[in-house]
Order: sequence, then structure tokens, then C-alpha cells
Amino acid sequence: MARASVPPPGGLPGPGVPPPERCSSCSGPDLTRLPLVLTDGTDVTFVSCNRCERREWITLDDAGAWQSLPIDTIIQRSARKPR
Ligand SMILES: [Zn+2]
Repeated sequence: MARASVPPPGGLPGPGVPPPERCSSCSGPDLTRLPLVLTDGTDVTFVSCNRCERREWITLDDAGAWQSLPIDTIIQRSARKPR
């Protein structure tokens, strides 16, 4: 069952990794997806479920998998840097 783990060349996953199609809470297929760029330059996708109204921010990690970001992270990365 050994599975070779090959890091993606260049570190960045290529385009074509689709965001999740179903709500992680109710598995509903009716999602609103909105690509956003946070203040610190992080690309995220805001996902809102039209069935259970769950809201989630997801981002692609280095392995090319979608990860859910906690709201605290979103707030921190959206904040303007203090001068
Ligand atoms: Zn849902």
C-alpha cells in the first residue's frame, strides 16, 4: 500500500483543481462560490451554501488540496497592516 508522494513541481498546483461541489455540512449541491483575494494576497474562495447557509472560506494548500480556513485567519489576513 506504499504510495509514492511526489511534491508538485514548482510548488504551485496547476489550474484545474475544482473547488468542492458540495456543502461540507449538509452535502447540498447548491453552493455559491466567490473567488476573493485577501489583503495579504492570499487567494481564497468564499463558499456559501444555499440550503443550510453555512459559509466557509477555502484555499488551495501546497499539495493542491482545498483547505477550509477559520474565520480568524480570514480576519487576520484581511486586516490592513498597522503603520
Ligand atoms: Zn449546506
